[in-house]
Amino acid sequence: MAPAVSNRNTPTPKELSKQVLETTKALCVNDIENNTIFQPNIALQTPALQALNRIKNMATYEQLFENNRKWIAAMQAKDVDFFEKLARDQQPDYLYIGCSDSRVPANEIMGLEPGDVFVHRNVANLVNNTDLNVMSVINYAVKHLDVKHVIVCGHYNCGGVKAAMMPKDMGILNPWLRTIRDVYRHYEQELNEIKDEKARYDRLVELNVIEQAVNVIKTANVQKGYLKKGYPIVHGWVFDLHTGVLKDLNINFVEQLRNIQKIYDLTGMVSEHNEDGE
Ligand SMILES: [Zn+2]
Repeated sequence: MAPAVSNRNTPTPKELSKQVLETTKALCVNDIENNTIFQPNIALQTPALQALNRIKNMATYEQLFENNRKWIAAMQAKDVDFFEKLARDQQPDYLYIGCSDSRVPANEIMGLEPGDVFVHRNVANLVNNTDLNVMSVINYAVKHLDVKHVIVCGHYNCGGVKAAMMPKDMGILNPWLRTIRDVYRHYEQELNEIKDEKARYDRLVELNVIEQAVNVIKTANVQKGYLKKGYPIVHGWVFDLHTGVLKDLNINFVEQLRNIQKIYDLTGMVSEHNEDGE
C-alpha cells in the first residue's frame, strides 16, 4: 500500500533532473539579476545551492553522451556513409574566427555541416599578431586547407567587449581586453559622439570586428595567398543574439588590403600587384 503511494509521488530520475534544472536555473537567474553570480564570494553559496549545482552538473554531463548517440543516429539516418566520408579528409571553404560565447555556434548559424568550416574562437574574436594560436589557425587554413573566405564574426551583447568598456582591473584579462580598448582609442571620436550607451556598445562590437579583420589582412599568409590565387577574401560579420541575423559589415577587402600594404606589405610585390590593377 505504502509503496504504491510512494511510487506515484516519487519523481523518476528524469523528472528529478528536470526539477533540479528548473530550480537551479531560477536560482542562477536570480543571482544574475542581483549581479552576485560574478562576485568572488560565490563560493559562499548555500549548501542547498551547492548540492543542486552538483546534481545539475552531473545530469547535464551525462546527457552529453546520450545526445551524442542520438546525433550519430540522426547523421546516419540522413547518410549511411556520413562518418566514413567525415573521416576521409576536410576541405572547408571557410575559416571562421568568432567569439567563444556559447550562444554563437559557428556551424549552426551558417547552416553548415561538419567539415564545411574551419573554426577558431576566443574571447571577443580577437586576432592578435603575437597570439600563436590564432596565427597558426590562419596559417593552416589559408596555406594548407586553401580556404576561400576568412570570416571574423563578432556579436552584439559581447561580454568581452562590454568588459573592455568598464573602467576596471580585470586581472589576467587586462592584456587580452586591451586590444579592444585600443580599438576604442582608435575610434574614440566616433564612439564618444554616440550618446546612447547601448548604441555605442553595439558600434564598438562592429569596429572591433573590422579591426580584427584588418589584423587578418596584415598576415603574410593572406597577403601572399591573395596575390597568388585571388583569395582568401576577408569578411567582417556581426551576429545578433536577439534575432539570429548575421549582419555583413561589407568590408571592402581589396581596398583594405591596398591600404594595409602601404605599411604592412609582406609580399615584397605590392607595386607589381597594383600595376595589375588589383
Ligand atoms: Zn563575445
